[in-house]
Amino acid sequence: MANYKTQAINLKTYNLGEADKIVVIYSRDHGIIKCVAKGIKKPASKLGGRMQVFNANNLMLADGRNLDIVCQAESIENFSKIREDLTRLSYAFYCIELVNLFGTDNDPNSKNIYDILFETLKNISIFTQVEEILWAVMRFKLKLAQYLGYEVELEHCAKCNCEEQEFSTYHYFSAEAGGVVCNECGNISNKSFEIDKRYIKLFKDAINYDFPFEKEHTDKMLLFSSFNILKEFISHRSDKKLKTPDIIEILC
Ligand SMILES: [Zn+2]
Repeated sequence: MANYKTQAINLKTYNLGEADKIVVIYSRDHGIIKCVAKGIKKPASKLGGRMQVFNANNLMLADGRNLDIVCQAESIENFSKIREDLTRLSYAFYCIELVNLFGTDNDPNSKNIYDILFETLKNISIFTQVEEILWAVMRFKLKLAQYLGYEVELEHCAKCNCEEQEFSTYHYFSAEAGGVVCNECGNISNKSFEIDKRYIKLFKDAINYDFPFEKEHTDKMLLFSSFNILKEFISHRSDKKLKTPDIIEILC
């Protein structure tokens, strides 16, 4: 049985019999892995709380016939502040849910996806304002889409591909088409959101910066509606319905 090491964030756990758990992890080297944490429910387990959802660990795994086995877990970060309030918890679950949904095993972009998930969980746990948390999650969605090959189109019309000199001429966003659309395409589709150039700037800045540093970056209404536009964008790329966006709407 070959052993291998990787950094990973825990996404989900299931009970397996009396003492064991199956843990779905997102690993930096191999993307999604389903593994078994043996004996984890016993009080003397060395894995202890390290295999809880959100925790990031340096893991030693053994190749199993069906599922790999967790041999050792050394904590990198447990993002403990995430568990302290419901807002943080809901946004963090949302990010985890997205990675669980879109991540694959042997993801070619696993390093990028792991790194942006780690950065986002870290920022959700340390940011104090809800606007900052929204920023972190919005950045996460934009970057994740990019790594999955669904980059949000912000330069040309996502429908007719026409090039416009000025961004201010784009007044619509189509989640279905995958980005900004020109006035002509936006007008004929009732599924487009009306936007203005502040949204495009916000999306571009969120891709480039991990912290909201301008006054406009913390405009709560703008952030919420951008968040919802991206939520629609993401839901068009999967048949499965996510649970957490509904919880987030109740909270906000
Ligand atoms: Zn167009």
